[in-house]
Amino acid sequence: MNNFSKSVWFTLTLAVAFLLLTWLWASLAPRGISPEASRYFTLDFIRRARGYQETRYLTYGLAFLLEVLVLTLLSFTPLGKGLENLVQSLAGGRPYREVFYFLLIIFGGAALLSLPLSYYRGFILEHAYGLSNQSTLDWLKDYFLSTAISLALTVPTLAGFYFLVRRFPQSWPWLVAGIYTAGMALLIMLSPLLIDPLFYHFRPVQDPQIRQQVLDLAAKAGIPVEEVLEMDASRRTNKVNAYFTGLGQTKRIVLYDNLLKKYPPTEVKLVVAHEMGHWRYAHIWKGLLLGGLGTLFTLLLLQKVLAGMKGFPSLHPVLRPSGLLLIFLFLTLWLFISQPFQNAVSRSFERQADATALTLTGDWAGQIALEKRLAEHNLADVDPHPFIRWLAFTHPSAVERIEAAQETAGRS
Ligand SMILES: [Zn+2]
Repeated sequence: MNNFSKSVWFTLTLAVAFLLLTWLWASLAPRGISPEASRYFTLDFIRRARGYQETRYLTYGLAFLLEVLVLTLLSFTPLGKGLENLVQSLAGGRPYREVFYFLLIIFGGAALLSLPLSYYRGFILEHAYGLSNQSTLDWLKDYFLSTAISLALTVPTLAGFYFLVRRFPQSWPWLVAGIYTAGMALLIMLSPLLIDPLFYHFRPVQDPQIRQQVLDLAAKAGIPVEEVLEMDASRRTNKVNAYFTGLGQTKRIVLYDNLLKKYPPTEVKLVVAHEMGHWRYAHIWKGLLLGGLGTLFTLLLLQKVLAGMKGFPSLHPVLRPSGLLLIFLFLTLWLFISQPFQNAVSRSFERQADATALTLTGDWAGQIALEKRLAEHNLADVDPHPFIRWLAFTHPSAVERIEAAQETAGRS
């Protein structure tokens, strides 16, 4: 291994270890409740929500650690090579089948290995806090269906990646980043039609008052929203949410039925206006563009690291299926340390969407009531440890969002 590759691996390992240890400390260290949080939420609620979220943080860290350990073990012991020999004998010398079986075993194995932790996190914990309505059987059905979909998407994609790396040793980062970004765009465009309906039923929002509100808001925002959909989330969860998704013709705002059933129309209006903010500022396109650039940078770095490891058996003289394990390890570590940057971007999008909601409705008092209700319903960590917020929060905390609304009130 040359010095460049050595120093990249060393820095990555050090950074991940530092982040994980700090993560553990931040999840477990006893912490007081800030005066801002206790101004808007009861102590009972804050403690209960913290108990729930801290368990989620820990299980998340544990799942990541497990993934890193398994990949390290497979990459640096004869296990990975053994697996490669096995698929070679199964595939009868056909290289495409070889890598296909290899990926299927790795990702299928990962899904089985992570089942207990996913079950704890997605089922036991959710039930313990009264957030889930699912039976064990329904949960398992969802788990295996989403695993099957992700295998169907990941395995051919990564097999394609493998052959591009072998066939175009110089230009593969550019090719892969381009194809990946186009593929993501296609996936965002098509999943509202092909994948989402496998899990939920969607229909246009029925309440005529809400529909009129949506049309008025869309006219005010200057965006062509005609339909807002409601999704039967209550079949699975008591949580409340809404989202904006799709590209081009499939762009849509989706509201959980829980929101429509349990929230006053003024607050539903604020949620819709928030999603219109994402629409108006083209956050999906911006996310894709940033994601594409990030992918390109990551792959160029990976190429340089791999070039410095020519002596590594699974990379020499061309990439072997077991060499993919090393690539996955690199990407897993790299994605973990790039999270704070991705999340900072996401939080800035969310602040922009919140600001749009306030501009469109002028209803800052409603916004405060909404944020309180959402946090209470979803057991949100309203006042997270600053480190956890920095590393993992895709949205500003409830207290931050409430204070942003207060500030608007102060200005108007
Ligand atoms: Zn949002």
